[in-house]
Amino acid sequence: MRSIEHIYINGKFVVPHGEDRLDLINPATEERIGDVRLGNENDVRAAVAAAKRALPALAGSTKAERIDMLHSLRDAIAANPDELIQTMTEEYGAPSYFTAFSVQNTASVFDVMAETVAEYEFDRVVGKSAVRMLPRGVLAAITPWNSNFGFIATKLAHAIGSGSPLVIKPAEQSALQTEVLAKRLYQAGLPAGVLNIVNGTGPVVGAALTSDPDVATISFTGSTQAAKIIQRAAIDGMKRVILELGGKAPTIIMPDAELDKAIPVALMSGFANSGQACVAGTRILAPRSRMAEISERLKVEAEKLKVGAPRDAEVRIGPMASRAQWERIQMYIRLGIEEGATLLTGGTGRPAGLDRGWFARPTIFVDVHSNMRIAREEIFGPVLCLIAYDDEDEAVEIANNSEYGLQAYVLGADQKRAVQIAERLLVGRVVVNGAPHDPRAPFGGFKQSGIGREIGAFGLDGLLEPRAILTA
Ligand code: ADP
Ligand code: MG
Repeated sequence: MRSIEHIYINGKFVVPHGEDRLDLINPATEERIGDVRLGNENDVRAAVAAAKRALPALAGSTKAERIDMLHSLRDAIAANPDELIQTMTEEYGAPSYFTAFSVQNTASVFDVMAETVAEYEFDRVVGKSAVRMLPRGVLAAITPWNSNFGFIATKLAHAIGSGSPLVIKPAEQSALQTEVLAKRLYQAGLPAGVLNIVNGTGPVVGAALTSDPDVATISFTGSTQAAKIIQRAAIDGMKRVILELGGKAPTIIMPDAELDKAIPVALMSGFANSGQACVAGTRILAPRSRMAEISERLKVEAEKLKVGAPRDAEVRIGPMASRAQWERIQMYIRLGIEEGATLLTGGTGRPAGLDRGWFARPTIFVDVHSNMRIAREEIFGPVLCLIAYDDEDEAVEIANNSEYGLQAYVLGADQKRAVQIAERLLVGRVVVNGAPHDPRAPFGGFKQSGIGREIGAFGLDGLLEPRAILTA
């Protein structure tokens, strides 16, 4: 049982002004494992003031100084990944394949940004003017619970890379993870005020941050619904918003796909992070001529995926992160049945043998039409829709017929043809034939999936503005 009593402001761990507390629950056991004391508006004011004081020095730092800070952060994470992995397992419940990836990725985010800073042209000559890319000012970031370490690291890397001091409000349900990470980040020895972390809820701490007059830019990762509230709050302060939001990614299985390869990739794209991923491939589009074969293979392979406690190395799907998440999944499975879709596998309730913990049954619906809510809305759990198409044009049309445009997957034996399909999709990223994660690829979406991009030069561009000096 651990009580999180501190937030991190101006280089110190301090007790927040807020007095409300939130219980922290292990989702695999439903046991209370701790609680967190939440910050309030006064904590946000103090954190933003500290960030504002740190701005001149950080904005004036050299490339070499930023790269040094980024390397120190990487080293602080990479030195001892075990504690991070343990805490993520306990508080979030992700399977071990995902926690290992996540912690490794958390360190590598800083390395990738160090490379970006080395290459980025902060000083340019445009026309006859000397142009310098300057940080817009204090950066506020708000992050979700489905990859707490990775999102905090990404926001911090962009803050340092661009020279913008950061105030971050991580998801309140992830306070144990935030604390172990914060202690690591502290070891990197950043100047006071460059990083500030305030625990708290969205409507209190999140809202105070997004309306603070001294915040210049807001970088948000989370739901499209919360993003709209945040964007409205940003108007008066003329803040720029960078939003990485929901998705309903299509996985197009091409007519020539080799199913031995394609089916496992389609399933793990859909069920990645136990389905709690904005990039999850939740609409599997299959050629009608091969529908019987593909649905049979999906059913057989899905039923082989082990669901269970995250410490078991064989487990591919862990618990949902919270009771609220589990109930949301149940609601969508019931809705799919009411809408007239057919369960190929899965359904409501817990998987056999798991009577405690927020475990959902990996579910695939067939007889799904693109206008059903289960095919349009982000479910954020292990629930997939299998949709038939007649030809490639129709596959592209269904894939693009979504309010979202974050990610897509294409699977086909003829790689060139698969890339041609990828080029017709309006999404931020297309993964062809199970390509491995590329930590240097820009990330973000079109349409309701967001505004702006993170990672690399695209990520820095969003936090910088050019100043031109014209001389006679
Ligand atoms: P979920 O509902 O699944 O937790 P959210 O998008 O609501 O997803 O949460 C992502 C992050 O946004 C969390 O840190 C949450 O506290 C924060 N958040 C939620 N609502 C608001 C809001 N109105 N203003 C600012 N931040 C918010
Ligand atoms: Mg919410």
